[in-house]
Amino acid sequence: MIAQVVFNLPLDRAFDYLVPPDWESLIQPGARVEAPFGRRRLVGYVVKTAARSAVKELRTLLRLIDRTPMLSAEQWKLARWMADYYGCSLGEALAGIVPTALRIREDMASDEPRLQRSAEEGPVLTTEQQRAFDALTAAATAKRVAAFLLHGVTGSGKTELYLRLIREVLRQGRSAICLVPEIMLTPQAIDRFRQRFGEEAAVWHSRLTRHLRALTWQRLARGQCRIVVGTRSAVFAPLSHLGLIVLDEEHDPSYKQDDAPRYHAREVAMARAREAGAVVLLGSATPSVESYYAAARKRLRLLELTTRVQGRAMPKVEIVDLRQELAHGRRNALLSLRLQRALERAVALQEHAILLLNRRGFARVAQCPSCGAVARCDACSVPLIYHATTQQLRCHYCSRSQPAPETCTACSRGYVRLKGSGTQRVESELHRLFPASAIARLDSDATKPKDSHRRLYDAIATRQVDLLVGTQMVAKGLDLPHVTLVGVVSADTALNLPDFRAGERTFELLTQVAGRAGRGDRPGRVIIQTFCPNHYAIQAASRHDYHAFYRAEINMRKRLQLPPFTQLVELTVQGGRRVRVEQAAQALADALRRRLSGRAMQVLGPAPHRLAVLRGTHRWHLVLKGKQVSPMLAAVRQALREGRRFHGLPVIVDVDPQ
Ligand code: ADP
Ligand code: ZN
Repeated sequence: MIAQVVFNLPLDRAFDYLVPPDWESLIQPGARVEAPFGRRRLVGYVVKTAARSAVKELRTLLRLIDRTPMLSAEQWKLARWMADYYGCSLGEALAGIVPTALRIREDMASDEPRLQRSAEEGPVLTTEQQRAFDALTAAATAKRVAAFLLHGVTGSGKTELYLRLIREVLRQGRSAICLVPEIMLTPQAIDRFRQRFGEEAAVWHSRLTRHLRALTWQRLARGQCRIVVGTRSAVFAPLSHLGLIVLDEEHDPSYKQDDAPRYHAREVAMARAREAGAVVLLGSATPSVESYYAAARKRLRLLELTTRVQGRAMPKVEIVDLRQELAHGRRNALLSLRLQRALERAVALQEHAILLLNRRGFARVAQCPSCGAVARCDACSVPLIYHATTQQLRCHYCSRSQPAPETCTACSRGYVRLKGSGTQRVESELHRLFPASAIARLDSDATKPKDSHRRLYDAIATRQVDLLVGTQMVAKGLDLPHVTLVGVVSADTALNLPDFRAGERTFELLTQVAGRAGRGDRPGRVIIQTFCPNHYAIQAASRHDYHAFYRAEINMRKRLQLPPFTQLVELTVQGGRRVRVEQAAQALADALRRRLSGRAMQVLGPAPHRLAVLRGTHRWHLVLKGKQVSPMLAAVRQALREGRRFHGLPVIVDVDPQ
């Protein structure tokens, strides 16, 4: 017997192997096997068994990992769809669905989880919630695929609606997936599901231990848990009779995977729901421009929650023009007078405040005032960031760190001045201004030590923190009724990135963080500091006006023919030598231009990548723009005849890049 096996490699073909005779009755398509591959042993996926092979000298499979195949018919279809749409290999797509490292042991203790039959019923729904609930329930009851966009302002009760809908779907004997962005999977969010559904709700994310991951997988596959709450990859959870997939904060960039398979959970959810006849619910206070456009074109059904529950007001937003502050001599101040006074007031009234600065560390860069040189990472070409706690400069891409130099390494004259600011500098400024207050910092540095995540969130939730400073981690998901003041130290961090979505990201971040204020009985106040007070994203965020933002943004996208009016495919060529990478990228662009000439498609670039050197690898990229992905991918496949390489260099293909 011959088995055709695909691997988690960028190779669009299967390889034939001999099956040892005693496995012949056990091996089935979908099983994972270990096979010799060159000089390596790799885990692969059996696609098919056959009686003969055209290959003369066959090697033999080494190990059968799964006696019961891990992939359902539905998952096979999903894998083929992913390989086709994202231009990855079938093996890469399969590895995205069933990780090669997942090890289910038949003897694994799988005690029945304690089912807590809806301990809590939840509050009476508001009129708006009820209307949305009725529409969604009707669609779920019809058991046909249907997709909705729930646009609800922060605090309008979207999460409550998800919980109610999930319960309804369980009542129908079906299962549900609730996806949340990476940083939204807070202990607080998990607790909310556990209170409603007890152990029937499984939690899935990338930090699970191997054992817990296998156990959770098994419980889901056996139907012992019928709900999964998790990040991106939970969209592949092995649930049967799927009735609902929720994507909370559907606009969040963490839904796009940045390794092969480079899928977007929203697209996968749609594809999976089509197979299963399930309802897809995309929820957000700031829907992505793509999704809102789809709703405007009636490809998604729009549901709106326009007010906060219990008649709570949206917080009042004020903009502080930092150009004026500079003119008044507060050149190095992080906090404007207005923000400082507001903090003093909050402290005096024993209310709590959140400060956002979407940049980690203490000072942004180390710059020499004599020659202007900025200390950079040798391997990644990005400026190094100063960390006060360790007094080191660290690269935020490869994590290499070195002691902060006393004198400039470029000209050896000047001392090194630390310019710019990050969360750690804000934190120490707060300590100086408010020595009696309890101050905490929430960013990826502060949550790195084991269990620090849970401890920090618990401290915040139990009101042990007066002033909280952090990166975008403070902007999302926290439901803290005692926070009355939110300060944005700089709204400009995202605005100047070379990304056509910079305005969208800024609007999202500001709206989300403003949504943390005034969730309790006392009204909220938000102060945004910026050098660009007239930018439409900042203006619209200050008025809680999604529609104004959307109108300005969609006009810009239309004028420039950017998504959602077109789709993009990004190709990145990488290698150790800059000249070779640049030449290959140029040749690839030429080849594609020849193939696409006369068609409604464009090749942009090549150009150095925003991170032109990363961990010692040089990177150039080009972007294809057109109405549809498939003809662009067809041209790319023709140009990259030797697998996913060009001039011998690896090429990364990213469909719908974020
Ligand atoms: P969102 O997800 O839109 O930010 P949540 O679902 O978290 O909103 O709701 C905000 C707060 O209001 C939560 O504390 C929630 O428990 C509460 N809440 C939600 N719906 C209702 C309701 N119908 N009646 C009373 N309180 C509600
Ligand atoms: Zn680096």
